[in-house]
Amino acid sequence: MSTILVTGGTGFLGANLCLRLTREGHRVICVDNNSTGRLENVREIAEHSNFRFLLHDITEPLHINEPVARIYNLACPASPPAYQGRHAIQTTRTCVLGALNMLELARAHNATILQASTSEIYGDPLEHPQAESYRGNVNPIGVRACYDEGKRCAESLFFDYARQEGVDIKVIRIFNTYGPLMDPNDGRVVSNFICQALAGRDLTVYGDGSQTRSFCYVDDLIEVMIRMMNSPKGFTGPVNTGNPGEFTIRELAERVLAETGSHSRIVYRGLPLDDPAQRRPDIGLAREKLGWEPAVQLSEGLKRTIPYFRTNIARFRGED
Ligand code: UDP
Repeated sequence: MSTILVTGGTGFLGANLCLRLTREGHRVICVDNNSTGRLENVREIAEHSNFRFLLHDITEPLHINEPVARIYNLACPASPPAYQGRHAIQTTRTCVLGALNMLELARAHNATILQASTSEIYGDPLEHPQAESYRGNVNPIGVRACYDEGKRCAESLFFDYARQEGVDIKVIRIFNTYGPLMDPNDGRVVSNFICQALAGRDLTVYGDGSQTRSFCYVDDLIEVMIRMMNSPKGFTGPVNTGNPGEFTIRELAERVLAETGSHSRIVYRGLPLDDPAQRRPDIGLAREKLGWEPAVQLSEGLKRTIPYFRTNIARFRGED
């Protein structure tokens, strides 16, 4: 049986992917330094004979003593509060050195490698919705640049490894995703709002809440990620992966209040620097090439996510 390696395997997306692949009977090596990931996310499969956890920072080279057929490169802090400030330099290192090391591993094993790129490569987009052909509007010296430019550089490395070294690459650009196994304290909008609503605290809308995002439920995202990995050799992407349903942040706050039945108030705080004003994926390519589109819309996704946070609310610190 061929082995699948998942970097960032104890993070939100990585753990959801490891759970699904392991349950489907694949041999999975989960690699993480647990800087933002949490071992408890993979607790359910920790003892499974097909599952192995490897504590490793991908900014260092990685050697694996068994054939690896597929690599999902997901490792990187992904929440703005997690990648800005004190972790900025480490974020760029993870994006760039991590991509280099994992591409070398893919080359050594003749493995297919999928890069978890991001809608952030479009920056504060001037084209709406964003298609893969759009080249973006990133502030290269701003506080988000460590992530945005790091991920852009990783994409460039992926395509150079494909051209120069013949590595079989796949690139997806992930838009905002939410669901079970999100860290209640990672500071993202869906986790913050649900935890605030459940704790009876104020929902903190940054700015006037007119900025938009498009929210994809995690199961839909994992499905398209696997479809992309299994797509015909030579189909590299990049492919936008996300739910095109677009909501203002104020609308999201209202939905969360309705779905949780909470009486919390909505309060307004300062808008973070370089916060993109609007974001919505054009998913025409994913539809055409992967036969994929999201099945779970926001209200249903929130209904499935809220119980997870109810069980984990005790850990919510709620600093904003
Ligand atoms: N946001 C907010 N309140 C919060 C956390 C985030 O209003 O408690 C806003 C944030 O400013 C941004 C949007 O919600 O406009 C999405 O933020 P998130 O950090 O989830 O993702 P990203 O900015 O990377 O899309």
